[in-house]
Amino acid sequence: MTSKDKATFKARVCQWAEKLDVKVQSIMLRSMENKWASCSSRGRLTFDTNLLSLEPHLQDYVIVHELLHLQVPNHGKLWKCLMKAYLGDYETSEQELKNHACKQY
Ligand SMILES: [Zn+2]
Repeated sequence: MTSKDKATFKARVCQWAEKLDVKVQSIMLRSMENKWASCSSRGRLTFDTNLLSLEPHLQDYVIVHELLHLQVPNHGKLWKCLMKAYLGDYETSEQELKNHACKQY
């Protein structure tokens, strides 16, 4: 993984943040054992560097998943509704990700 890959990924996160109209404080990339990503309520996002080797639509899933948590802190009805609105068939990506590794969000 190069620093260019990281920059590309961060740019992708910023594009989504703009689209979803959420404020991101910081974006970190580091290797995480049990998670693909995490976020704090104040908008600090951390993503697993392993994401960079996944297909773009799976990256999008994790990015949108976390960004939506800045608006909706759980996986309730509203969150699901927004996931569907932005990603369409997000459940397929969710399943694909699970096949890659059993991680949490
Ligand atoms: Zn989540």
